[in-house]
Amino acid sequence: MPHKDPVEAKRYRTSYRAVNLEKIRAREAAYRAAHAGALCARRAAYYAANREALLRQNAAYRASHIDQQHLRASTWRTANREGTRAKHLMRRYGLTVEQYETQLASQDGGCAICGTMEPGGASGRFHVDHRKRDGALRGLLCVRCNPLAASEHLEKHLDAAIAYLRRSAS
Ligand SMILES: [Zn+2]
Repeated sequence: MPHKDPVEAKRYRTSYRAVNLEKIRAREAAYRAAHAGALCARRAAYYAANREALLRQNAAYRASHIDQQHLRASTWRTANREGTRAKHLMRRYGLTVEQYETQLASQDGGCAICGTMEPGGASGRFHVDHRKRDGALRGLLCVRCNPLAASEHLEKHLDAAIAYLRRSAS
């Protein structure tokens, strides 16, 4: 035995491992590969024997960290709000944020129909209005004008509707 002193022995093992790390890792990987079936079976047996306790442990961990998880999720959302919006615009409307801003600027910053600067609605942003036929961008609309533009019935009878409203206006 080269080292009877346990402190000395430990120092020897630590430095041996540091010097031969790659060799040791390769040997460990080879062992795991050769015994994959047995190791897997052992883990499965351990899990089966301790299933209830492991599930309880996981549930307890989640319960005691739930606020932390919510906080992390909401922090992430806040930090990535612009990224989330960009993704939404692209996925849903095929628009980049720049295209949206350019369109809004061309409408002088307001709704393309009534001109209000207040988009209204939960998102606080103007709705992206598309032409049904080919999906081309028509404009950005406030929450009250958007349903008007979406109504095919209104589009079909627009002139009659205007005449009717003018005629019957008090
Ligand atoms: Zn409007």
